[in-house]
Amino acid sequence: MAQGRGWEGAVLRLLRAKDFTFTVTGAEDVTDHYRRLHFTDGGMLAATGVHPTMWVRLWFDNAGRPHQRAYTLVDPDAAAGTFSLEFALHEGRASDWARSARPGDTVEATVQGTGFERPDPEPSHVVAVGDPASLPAINSLLDALGSTPATIWFEGDTDGLPLRADPELHDVRRIPRREAGAHLVAEVKAALPDLLRGSADPYVWIACDTATTRALAAYVRRELKLPKQRVHALGYWRAA
Ligand SMILES: Cc1cc2nc3c(=O)[nH]c(=O)nc-3n(C[C@H](O)[C@H](O)[C@H](O)COP(=O)(O)OP(=O)(O)OC[C@H]3O[C@@H](n4cnc5c(N)ncnc54)[C@H](O)[C@@H]3O)c2cc1C
Repeated sequence: MAQGRGWEGAVLRLLRAKDFTFTVTGAEDVTDHYRRLHFTDGGMLAATGVHPTMWVRLWFDNAGRPHQRAYTLVDPDAAAGTFSLEFALHEGRASDWARSARPGDTVEATVQGTGFERPDPEPSHVVAVGDPASLPAINSLLDALGSTPATIWFEGDTDGLPLRADPELHDVRRIPRREAGAHLVAEVKAALPDLLRGSADPYVWIACDTATTRALAAYVRRELKLPKQRVHALGYWRAA
């Protein structure tokens, strides 16, 4: 099924990627810029299992060329073979597909590269840095780590967005996106050292645009000297 997707598809096939077809069963406009689609999984969850922050590679057609983008499973139900995806909407082929997706529409998916290493020892405090694209993963992470207190730096406005933060446990700091993410980096750098100093086994999880993610991950690893197994960092999108 990866045929016709060019070298990227061929490489994924060689890596024994699994291909599935998802079917849209419903759609909700959560806000003007955030849309949730419900799917049946084409047998995926039974074959792959489920883990926190699990994501899939979706294949879109972009004027005849394959266009692969990653999306995070929301509330996967392996027994029912269903899940949702939440799309932060902006310019882009995947966003456009999501904007117009209706029940009955299908999209092909590959499962390759996703994983979750549970921090051991359990974190005394979680620091998550993200934005609307990583909101589904932040929710999944918070859910997986149960009653662990967390500080969440969220780039952008959370108004109307389904951030599942518990005010008793989670301190959400909303930071406007300015200077291509540099403002977020400065805010995190200003507060993080003190925050980490008070915590025995912190765990830092970063998923912003690629440049912001890189800057924050380098800071936490090199300057704050957090061990690498206590820092998870993955760029979720590339700023133009
Ligand atoms: C592991 C992983 C999981 C992800 N999970 C989700 C998810 O659950 N929900 C979700 O919405 N996204 C998620 N993303 C991010 C998503 O894959 C990217 O945003 C992707 O680039 C969107 O593709 P596109 O075709 O719409 O736009 P592209 O063709 O990639 O980009 C078009 C234009 O939009 C800009 N752009 C792309 N993404 C964003 C953004 N997020 N915000 C602002 N501008 C942007 C680009 O700079 C470019 O100018 C995930 C990414 C990764 C790596």
